[in-house]
Amino acid sequence: MITCYTRELGKIDILVRSAQKLNSKLAPLTSGLYAISSLKVEPGKNYYHLLGGEIKKYFKNILSNYRDIWRVGRLLKGVDEIIKLEKPHQQVFDLLVKFLEKMNIKSGRDKEVLLYAFLIKFLSLLGYQPEIKKCVFCRRSPKAGGKTWFDVAHGGLVCANCAEKKHYSSIIINEAVIDALKKLLFRRFDQLERGPINKPDFRRAKVIINRFFKWHLG
Ligand SMILES: [Zn+2]
Repeated sequence: MITCYTRELGKIDILVRSAQKLNSKLAPLTSGLYAISSLKVEPGKNYYHLLGGEIKKYFKNILSNYRDIWRVGRLLKGVDEIIKLEKPHQQVFDLLVKFLEKMNIKSGRDKEVLLYAFLIKFLSLLGYQPEIKKCVFCRRSPKAGGKTWFDVAHGGLVCANCAEKKHYSSIIINEAVIDALKKLLFRRFDQLERGPINKPDFRRAKVIINRFFKWHLG
């Protein structure tokens, strides 16, 4: 059985018969390759049944880099755990395609920025967009130069004033990290490559996105 993310049906489990696994047109489906395919399926009692189809595009290059295989695999596993069966979401589908296309481009660049941009965009599409412009309690923009926190449970920034009153101290964050998060969330993938985020800010943005993702995964 394979799990596919489809544009029309969302995530579905498809039962592939062993004879179909040998079909050269469909073999890559069950071999762990990342690909976009056009499939003909029929709903069954528990799973969809594969009637036919063809692979439209492989993302072969992802498999040529050992580190990317592991990263993309781990990321898609997390995505799979968050997404419920048969809830179509075309924007999520399109985001996944764009992400895999970018990951598939051979370049010497580190692809980690793409991964984290994907995660924060993905969570936002599912309705968990972190509030990185205003304090989640008082709705005021954090003061320039003042201390600001990121509260994972409340999904966004907490200003110094509210942190003190409510003792909601979680991860301390500064303007540069907030700016890095904004870039990852609001910029398109290709814009991200043009204006790089500096390493220390990106590292701290990663910590926040990871915790935020785990919170919603939990
Ligand atoms: Zn506040």
